[in-house]
Amino acid sequence: MRFSEFTGNRDSAARLKERIRQGTSFHAYLIDGPEGIGKRRLAYTAAQALMCEDPRDGEPCGECPACRKVMGGNHADLHYITTDGSSIKDEQIEGIQGILFSKPFDGDHTILIIDKADTMTARAQNRLLKTLEEPARSVRVFLLTEKRSDILPTIVSRSVVIRLKPVEAEEIRQFLINSHGADEKDAEIAAACSGGCPGKAVRLLQDEDFKQRRERSITCAKALAKAGSLPEFMKTLEEDLRDKEEALEFLDMVLLWYRDLLLLDLKAGNEIMNRDRAEELALAGEKVSRKQILRTLEELENAKQDILMNANKGYVIRNMYLKIRG
Ligand SMILES: [Zn+2]
Repeated sequence: MRFSEFTGNRDSAARLKERIRQGTSFHAYLIDGPEGIGKRRLAYTAAQALMCEDPRDGEPCGECPACRKVMGGNHADLHYITTDGSSIKDEQIEGIQGILFSKPFDGDHTILIIDKADTMTARAQNRLLKTLEEPARSVRVFLLTEKRSDILPTIVSRSVVIRLKPVEAEEIRQFLINSHGADEKDAEIAAACSGGCPGKAVRLLQDEDFKQRRERSITCAKALAKAGSLPEFMKTLEEDLRDKEEALEFLDMVLLWYRDLLLLDLKAGNEIMNRDRAEELALAGEKVSRKQILRTLEELENAKQDILMNANKGYVIRNMYLKIRG
């Protein structure tokens, strides 16, 4: 793992690297961003760079015993905590408190990575806060969150906040091809449906069910252009979309379909994402007007926002359908 090999968010990675290179790294970092964006990867790269016996210009060498131990997850001075259920409990923080006040076993730093730190209970957060108020000089803490607002402001203010942003689909596509040996077509679809998260794109690439889910989304996308297809549409949704994530993924795939229809309508067929379905798209495009496509795209975006705000997915999608067909 190297900072310079990050997929997206290279500015953030470079700034963190620079701090470590200059020996001015802060004692607590809060890395915030959606699942699959690269929070763990960044924290582990930083851990490696801090522990490395032979760092090169701030980058970990990747070969020394310390680097190997960090990568293998068995470095005595690296501690990783996450939730085993719905929250990170006070006892978990209590369990590592002693370690954080004592000297490192092996090198110059003791590192604590708290994954899903936003699930820490109030008691756990208060206990952690005490550690951050008077940290041992050798301690570095990395808090990984999807919802920074669930962390006590007093903890946030004692941390350097690194906000990881969604990555361009094209960059993720290249990453899937170069680092995971994906073929062009699979890489393109996984990148487009990943919401800008490289880790999610990798999961989609390896997920056998994803192809099936994509087929169902395309069937629904086509149904959306036909009158009287609500029962068919709702049945698919109720049976297939188990949670918020799946509902968002579904809407993203329907969005891609309609974006492609718009591109075809604009005579920009060489830019479509569903390249393997070009013929089907061309046929579908004959049956919808540009106005209909634009309205559908707008309603799909609205539905996505509502689901992100935790509205009931069945209600949102039904409502969206009625607006599009109404
Ligand atoms: Zn090393």
